Amino acid sequence: MNVTTRATVQEIREVTPSLFLVTLRPETIRPWDPGMFLQLTLEDVDWSRPWPPSKPFSFASWGGDHIRLLIRKEGQFTSRLIENARPGLTLTVKYPFGDLVLDRPAKYCLVAGGAGISPFLSFLDFYLGRELTLPAVVIHSIRRREELVSEIYWEKIPDSIKILPRVTGEYPPPDPDRRLDISAALREAGVRDDTWQFVVSGPPQFAAKYGRSLSDAGFKHIQLESWQGGVVGSFQPGPAEGVLQT
Ligand SMILES: Cc1cc2nc3c(=O)[nH]c(=O)nc-3n(C[C@H](O)[C@H](O)[C@H](O)COP(=O)(O)OP(=O)(O)OC[C@H]3O[C@@H](n4cnc5c(N)ncnc54)[C@H](O)[C@@H]3O)c2cc1C
Repeated sequence: MNVTTRATVQEIREVTPSLFLVTLRPETIRPWDPGMFLQLTLEDVDWSRPWPPSKPFSFASWGGDHIRLLIRKEGQFTSRLIENARPGLTLTVKYPFGDLVLDRPAKYCLVAGGAGISPFLSFLDFYLGRELTLPAVVIHSIRRREELVSEIYWEKIPDSIKILPRVTGEYPPPDPDRRLDISAALREAGVRDDTWQFVVSGPPQFAAKYGRSLSDAGFKHIQLESWQGGVVGSFQPGPAEGVLQT
């Protein structure tokens, strides 16, 4: 059952001029699973009033009495949010939502493009909070080193989680054509057999491309998550093209 509740901005941290970590403290707490998302509106409303324009954001944290979001300042909504956010500002959130749930006991190989790392940050919190020990791999392809998962995650990442950074904007590029070479990354991470559960999160082209590569390489357990024009999409690689299911 989801809840509509006021949430106060506690902290806003600029990672780079276009990427921000925003910490909210909701009045009412509802537990959420790693990978899920909330709806956020910039207005201060209660559940009985019509719901104003809002946008979905993945939880970038898990557990506790606060919610952290990783926000890419992109268009109208996120620009207004970042320009107005200051400690003490009251917003309204509705949560939790979503089918991407990373709470199963599995060996996860998480592949993120850019701010697509956001749901995986909630997985890292969950992993630490639940004291998990199964191996996990996070491959993060990003243009700027300052935005890497190892730079923006707030806790110490345990040794059982292998982080593979691919900073595609640096010279010389880590992989050919400034694009993540997923086969090389998997070899480096020792991900070889079908006992791994893959999740790819990022822009639609990123998710489709790497979902197809994993499928072509013979991996079976692949889930793709992407954000497209405010609509949640989950790609399932099919025989021809990745199919966007909404
Ligand atoms: C389930 C889910 C989870 C999400 N989680 C996150 C998250 O954790 N972090 C996050 O940052 N985002 C997340 N998103 C995306 C987020 O909801 C917003 O859609 C996104 O931030 C863009 O919102 P915006 O209003 O700022 O940009 P928009 O105004 O929607 O613009 C988006 C892009 O389109 C371009 N654009 C807009 N209008 C035009 C135009 N007329 N012509 C040409 N280009 C145009 C903008 O420049 C921008 O690049 C998520 C989305 C979903 C569905």
